[in-house]
Amino acid sequence: MDKIHMVDLLGQYRHIEEEVNDAIRQVIESTAFINGPAVKSFEQALASYLGTEHVIGCANGTDALQIALMALNLPDDAEIIVPAFNYVAAAEVVALLKCKLVFCDVDERLFTLDVKDVKRKITPKTKVIIAVHLFGQAAPMEELVALAAEYNLVIVEDNAQAIGADYIFNNGSRKKLGTIGHIGTTSFFPSKNLGCYGDGGAITTNDAELAPVMRSIAGHGQSKKYFYERVGVNSRLDTLQAAILNVKVKYLDQYITGRQLAADFYDKHLGAIPWLSIPARTDYSTHVFHQYTVLVKGKSRDEINKQLMENGIPSMIYYPVSLHQTTAYGFVETNKLPGAESLTSRVLSLPMHTELTDDQLQHICDTMAIL
Ligand SMILES: *Cc1c(COP(=O)(O)O)cnc(C)c1O
Repeated sequence: MDKIHMVDLLGQYRHIEEEVNDAIRQVIESTAFINGPAVKSFEQALASYLGTEHVIGCANGTDALQIALMALNLPDDAEIIVPAFNYVAAAEVVALLKCKLVFCDVDERLFTLDVKDVKRKITPKTKVIIAVHLFGQAAPMEELVALAAEYNLVIVEDNAQAIGADYIFNNGSRKKLGTIGHIGTTSFFPSKNLGCYGDGGAITTNDAELAPVMRSIAGHGQSKKYFYERVGVNSRLDTLQAAILNVKVKYLDQYITGRQLAADFYDKHLGAIPWLSIPARTDYSTHVFHQYTVLVKGKSRDEINKQLMENGIPSMIYYPVSLHQTTAYGFVETNKLPGAESLTSRVLSLPMHTELTDDQLQHICDTMAIL
């Protein structure tokens, strides 16, 4: 059995090696390194995959969030609601833009925004909710969209971990995550479900007014070369990365199926173990398993992590601390966030990627069963 990795980017590359190498060589030989044709063709490919009007490539998923918020022209005292149990990006850009960061609790079963707490946090100054689709499954968009309509708020979907997942509305219709709120943002960090071989990100929207504003902000605030309409940033999707993504986006559905099969295997073999709970699935979205995260109960998580490691099995803690309890964001006054706080001491993510074999999965599950 091959060594088990948390993610296996080399194994994945081996299946698409020639196509990727050709794509890279074409960019180099064209010398169109900045804003080359691959950027536009990838933006179009992703727009059609997601079923959205506009896709704007940018340098990474954090920039995508920053550009989205900059485009909204928020008043100085704007409040932005962000989940506390989350990767740092959303909180970071809110703080950088000097808006008021409002941390919200998450649902302990689903890891995504707790709508009841969102409601409690809305004030007349609230302007934006950043809905993060954590670990590959949707935040409760239908309820959030209704709240946004009632209070005239903008919803930005941080789709860095859930690209390709479907939202299933009450009436049975479906939309890809990232296309339901006003703006969607995503990251192509190598280990993401659609990852490139460096940094990359994108912004998506169906809003014909916001789209050119966001494109201009990503390009130094220009309307055309050397005509600056607004203060912008320099945030481009690199042409080499776009060329790689053009190859990989064709395999995204296959990659998602690979993750879902691995998750089904885990569910089936871990579901009866008394000291953990397997990840809950909502009935309102598919799950694309950026992470397969179990909750450890009544056993020491450190001990489990150590014993897995001794059996050649890596595991990771996403996330060991809630953002409102970190040094950088501890300044934010908030009520107790029991969901977020309790998750930080219970979550454990198991190996999850497109190259896991049944042998490897069996070894992981057999080992878990006797811990
Ligand atoms: C990865 C990630 C980001 C940021 O992406 P970068 O490309 O690393 O800047 C933002 N939000 C979430 C939820 C992420 O997982």
